[in-house]
Amino acid sequence: MTAIDYDLEFLEDGRTIELISIGMVCDDGREYYAVNSDADWDRVRKNDWLMQNVWPHLPLRGHKSGLVTVGGKVQTRLTEPGVVDTTNTQVKPRWVIANEVRDFIQATDDPALWANCGAYDFVALAQLWGPLVRRPKGVPVRTNDIQQERARLGVAWDELPQQESGEHNALADARHNQFVRRWLAEQEARTP
Ligand SMILES: [Mg+2]
Repeated sequence: MTAIDYDLEFLEDGRTIELISIGMVCDDGREYYAVNSDADWDRVRKNDWLMQNVWPHLPLRGHKSGLVTVGGKVQTRLTEPGVVDTTNTQVKPRWVIANEVRDFIQATDDPALWANCGAYDFVALAQLWGPLVRRPKGVPVRTNDIQQERARLGVAWDELPQQESGEHNALADARHNQFVRRWLAEQEARTP
């Protein structure tokens, strides 16, 4: 088994899930990151949570940032959102991302997918290729969940290693997922 830890940022409204960005890291050392140029950016812009947490990590142009006081703390925040920078090579049409993610997974020896609270991540991943049954050959039908592994090992949620930076950047999140999964495996190895 070769683990692929991944994370998606997405726009969801209780009925649909739409890909914004995807990050994948494989235990063989490869990494992948892409931003969906076909995302409905008008709807993303209307979503305050996405604009605060996800948007600042995307490749942008025409944006401005400044110091803003939030809850008594001075933070750097975007004061002008700008637009997603479609001249950045990480920004790609969804069909290109579907092909590249397929190739990434198919290049993996006996792949096992891992995500953190990954139910929605897996749905948005599988929908890259349409209905679940249209998954390309070799793409697993399910994702292992770091939180299930945590619970199985009797580790409390707040005992997990914390992410230092980049939370909600899909690639930073995928790297952190890999770190946490490996940390959990070490805890298990240490248990007599
Ligand atoms: Mg994330």
